[in-house]
Amino acid sequence: MSDQQLQLGVDDAYVALQNAWECALEVLSKHVNKPSFDSWIKTAKPVSVDGNLVMITTNSRFAKHWLESKHLPLIKEILETQLERKLQLRVDFSESDEPVILTETLPQKPKPQPKHDEEPISLPLNNQYNFDNFVVGPTNRLAHACAMAISENPGKTYNPLFIYGGAGLGKTHLMHALGQTVLAKSPDAKVAYVSGEAFTYHYITSLREHRTAEFRRQYRSIDVWLVDDIQFLVGKERTEEEFFHTYNAIYDMGKQIVLTSDRAPKDLQLDSRLLSRFQCGMLADISPPDLETRMAILQTKAECENMTLSDDVILYIAKLIRTNIRQLEGALITLHAYASLMKTAVTLSLAEEVLSKNFGDAAPTVVDAQKVLNAVSKKFYVELTDLKGKCRSKNIVAPRQIAMYLMRELTDYSLPAIGKAIGGKDHTTVMHSCKKVEGKLATDKSFQAIITELTNQITGSRG
Ligand code: ADP
Ligand code: MG
Repeated sequence: MSDQQLQLGVDDAYVALQNAWECALEVLSKHVNKPSFDSWIKTAKPVSVDGNLVMITTNSRFAKHWLESKHLPLIKEILETQLERKLQLRVDFSESDEPVILTETLPQKPKPQPKHDEEPISLPLNNQYNFDNFVVGPTNRLAHACAMAISENPGKTYNPLFIYGGAGLGKTHLMHALGQTVLAKSPDAKVAYVSGEAFTYHYITSLREHRTAEFRRQYRSIDVWLVDDIQFLVGKERTEEEFFHTYNAIYDMGKQIVLTSDRAPKDLQLDSRLLSRFQCGMLADISPPDLETRMAILQTKAECENMTLSDDVILYIAKLIRTNIRQLEGALITLHAYASLMKTAVTLSLAEEVLSKNFGDAAPTVVDAQKVLNAVSKKFYVELTDLKGKCRSKNIVAPRQIAMYLMRELTDYSLPAIGKAIGGKDHTTVMHSCKKVEGKLATDKSFQAIITELTNQITGSRG
């Protein structure tokens, strides 16, 4: 019996929590690669439950960060479903002697043992993030193509590559895919995947332990340096300075650098010398996927889970969650967990019941065709009757196509219903219009901005 159990006694609430925790572990084990799971999730434990407050302890500060930033919402969701009440989760850490951070990378690849007792600098690469299961759509095509090109020829094409975009849109996925593809071709390449956070942590530790020389030597032997979430360096002056020197050293040796951030370089408050270096390379932004891509992602993920989802369920989830693919997956996992617990099939009504209250972009407003038409008419100074009419002049056709596209994205109207709402057009016209708009979205930044602005206006979100 563990200390905690002794401390808590055989308490029903605690036993229920343990069972729920086991269930959460089972779900997470399928979604996190083994090294990370073993280092950071398996070592976490729920230690107490007091009313609705659940305390979880981890064995390092880094594990705490990692758990909080990546998996807490899902864990909460599962525990709440299992325990049938709302919970508050708090994560703490009690530092053990072993450093848990920066464990060995690369599952399944026999690698030479590191010399002496040096800690490898790379974080584990998740073998579930590969190019094959990355769904390409108009809003991530460029980033995907660049990452693929680099993985074929690191250091020779785009250097550095800077990928930016909002949370949960596939930046990390692309980085892991890139790193693993390089390693599959050249198993001896030194691929180091670090996050801005891990870099900071590693640097500070090396300062504290007087090992900066070793730190620098390690970083200067890298062939492909993948730095995820660079925005973490903002405001950390010494770390940023060290990063700058590391960056220059790696770059000057002709080695590949790939960076990600939640915003464009110009919006990062980093040293201008660093920003100008980023801007010299390739910039690729990822914006939220369109409806078709979201549906394709759901289909792919459902297949991985051996889940069969009907088209109406897929459409429902894809319309409910528009801006974050991680949430899209979360919804699927929750639905899966719920259906297997209740031993029922996944139907549209189950999806509505389970997902409507916890998922979806902030307060999803009900959007109808009229709302879309009004917004488009106002934006482009086109009369409603013209939008719905038959005039083929360019300044009316373009807004009309945009209106159809937005109805497809934001309402739950079918193609024929959209055709009807726009003055009795055929469903093939609607499809053609949506394709047109998608094509333009993929290549035209200012057009993307217009569509985003309209979307935010119509849904009442701030963007
Ligand atoms: P980010 O780093 O941009 O916050 P992630 O790379 O962590 O986002 O992606 C969040 C989740 O969404 C991951 O599980 C990832 O596999 C999935 N994902 C993101 N984009 C795609 C895509 N285009 N196709 C398939 N899965 C995706
Ligand atoms: Mg990420």
